Order: sequence, then C-alpha cells, then structure tokens
Amino acid sequence: MNGETHEALERVVADVIEPAARTVDQEGKFPREGIDALAKAGMLGLTMDAECGGGGAGLRTATEVVERVARACGSTAMVLLMHYTAAAVLNRYGPAPVRQRIAGGEHLSTIAFSEPGSRSHFWISAGRAERDGDTVVLNGRKAWITAATEADSYVWSTLPAGGEGAMSLWLVPSRLPGLSEPPPFDGLGLRGNGSSPVTATGVRIPQGNLLGDDGAGLEVAMGTILPYFLTLSASFSLGLVEEVFDATVKHLTATRLDHLDITLAEQPVTRSVLGRMRVDTDRTRTLVESAATAVELDIAGKVMRPMEAKAAAAETAIAVTDQAMTICGGAAFRKDMGLERRFRDARAARVMAPTTEALHDFIARILCGLPMFGG
Ligand SMILES: Cc1cc2nc3c(=O)[nH]c(=O)nc-3n(C[C@H](O)[C@H](O)[C@H](O)COP(=O)(O)OP(=O)(O)OC[C@H]3O[C@@H](n4cnc5c(N)ncnc54)[C@H](O)[C@@H]3O)c2cc1C
Repeated sequence: MNGETHEALERVVADVIEPAARTVDQEGKFPREGIDALAKAGMLGLTMDAECGGGGAGLRTATEVVERVARACGSTAMVLLMHYTAAAVLNRYGPAPVRQRIAGGEHLSTIAFSEPGSRSHFWISAGRAERDGDTVVLNGRKAWITAATEADSYVWSTLPAGGEGAMSLWLVPSRLPGLSEPPPFDGLGLRGNGSSPVTATGVRIPQGNLLGDDGAGLEVAMGTILPYFLTLSASFSLGLVEEVFDATVKHLTATRLDHLDITLAEQPVTRSVLGRMRVDTDRTRTLVESAATAVELDIAGKVMRPMEAKAAAAETAIAVTDQAMTICGGAAFRKDMGLERRFRDARAARVMAPTTEALHDFIARILCGLPMFGG
C-alpha cells in the first residue's frame, strides 16, 4: 500500500474504528461510522478501476487494508472484505453508474449466496430468475448476507433464467419492493457484521443487472469471487491473530509473579507456546502472500492457493487465539483485554463457505483429478 493510503487508513482506524470496536461487539451494532470513515478515506473504492474513479489497487493492497482493519475490529473487517469481494465482480461486470458510485465511496455492496436449503454448498442455488419483458423477476431465500440492512446492493445468485448452466449472478439493489426486512444479527462473534437472512418475493430488476452471462455465475464465482473472498478472509484471520499476538507479548512481559520475582515471559513453558504461535502465524502469512501473488499475476494456483490460505488462516486463527487465551489466563477471560473478542471473531472463518472441511475436500479433489463439485 502506498504511503498516502497507509496514512489515511491509520487515521480512520485510530480515530473511528478502534474506539468503537468494543461497543460494536457488546451491542451487536453495525459499524456504520467506521464504514463511512473508510468510504471518505477512499477505502471502499480502492480496488475499483481508475477509469471509473477508483483507486486502481489490486488484491494485495486490499489484503493489507483488511488485515489492518481486522486488528482493530473483526466486524468492520468482515463488512469490508465482503464489499471488496462484491466490488471485484461489479468492477468487471456491473453497470457503469454503480461502478462509479462504488469508486466514489457512495455504495456498499456484499455477497448473497448462502441459502437455507443448500446451506454452505454455495455452488447450488434454488432461487429463481424469470424474464418478463425488460425485467427479471427474482424469488428465493438467502440465509446469511453480511451487512444485509446496511449494504446498498447484493451480488445475488439464482438458477439461470434461461435454464442452461449452474447459476446466474445479479446485481440486486437492497431496498427494492419484495425484499424482506433483515432481522437483527445476534451471534457468538463478529457481532456487528449484520449478517442476516433476506427473502426475495417477486423482486423486479432490469435485465442489465445480470453479472456475466446467464448460467455462467459459477465461472464468475471461481474466477473472481473465490480468489478475492478466500484471500481476503485469510487476511482477516491474520489481522485478528497479529493483534492477539501483540497483546499477549505485552501481557507476558508486563505481568509479574511477585513471589518468584519474574515476569510471565520468564516461564519456559509459556515462552514455548508463544514461539509456536509465532511460527504458526508466519507460516500462514507466507501462504497468504503466495495466494495474493497467484491471483494478481493470474498464474497457476490462482484458485488452489487462496483455498489453502483461507483454510490454513482460519484454523491458525482459532488455534492461536485459543493458545493466547490459555497463556494469558484469567486476564484474557476478561473483556477489557480484547482477547476473548478476537477468540470469538476468529471462529467465523472456519464455517464461512467454503468451510475449512469443504476446502480440504476441494483441494484433494483437484489433486486427484476429480470434479470439484461432484457428489
Ligand atoms: C458471520 C457470518 C457471515 C456470513 N456472511 C455471509 C455473506 O455475506 N454471504 C453469504 O452468502 N453467506 C454468508 N455466511 C454464510 C456462510 O458462508 C455459510 O454458508 C454458513 O456459515 C454455513 O453454515 P451452515 O450451518 O449452513 O453450514 P452447513 O452446510 O450446515 O455445514 C455444517 C458443517 O458441515 C460441514 N460440511 C458441509 N458440507 C460439507 C462438505 N461437502 N464436505 C465437508 N464438510 C462439509 C461444514 O464444513 C460445516 O462444518 C456468513 C456466515 C457467518 C457465520
């Protein structure tokens, strides 16, 4: 990230995101102020093409932004990473006015794939899209949409309108008649990410809101959505882990066992766990960087590396935050230290589709020459 972007981001994190993070978590409050501040600082339009007024930055810069925001507030980082993922699709296939609004920081988007029937099997949609003159009528149910009430649009999957292919993707403005009111989100972690179910009943959108070709939505997902989402999810996990690591070192070096006249860091077993946490984190970081490189250079491994990175980072984040909770003891159990928030937030990446188990299966399928989405 260039110096100007870095400075702008640091200011937003220090002035708005970090001070609000605890309240966002405790009250399950959507981080509106943080998202608005990111928009004003040019972060929502950062990855959009320069021709439409965006920052023209690539995935690597986005990973750095998401990681930095995740250090301060997991909920804000999740909203941002879903936006960057949707923006990658809209940048390529979306209508010009929407691209310009995203580039100008005036439009927040998100991904609407998961359904109550197919659950984490994001490659299957039972939603319908039917052509009616110049419009398309959507019917279907989404189980989880991050920022459901606050986003301006959804990248929404359905069965193809024409019957051919696995899936179609649509740009769906979030305040259209026929979209249900999303209920509030009340979860274990990422309590401010506003991830809620939405039902579409006879929702009318223009034919021009088709993203890519009808029936080619899975190809768009494989070529654009997955590389972005998986790599950014891995950066999100890394951000949580780095913050926890720093807080752990601070606690271990500043806290004393008075009767032995030593700090907690002077206990060999504690140090050994801390060292392992660092090795696991750095090993994961190498994989995440290699995933970003593969996507940016469009080289072999463009899909495989991000899959490995997301699975590894999600599991590392769960393991490292758990180890930190152990070696920081009762202090970590209290909310004021901020460790338990990251411990809860870290658990989301494992179950967000593609889940860790599904990714392991996909990787093995690719290596064995089997179809990724076979039975
Ligand atoms: C905080 C949060 C935000 C989210 N935001 C969004 C969003 O913005 N957009 C969106 O579309 N979705 C979103 N989701 C939904 C998410 O992507 C998953 O679809 C959802 O979490 C899966 O939960 P489930 O109970 O439906 O999983 P299930 O499908 O019931 O899976 C349960 C378990 O079975 C395992 N399993 C299932 N199938 C397989 C398989 N083939 N191989 C191996 N193991 C398998 C899974 O790994 C998982 O551990 C979000 C979820 C969370 C928690």
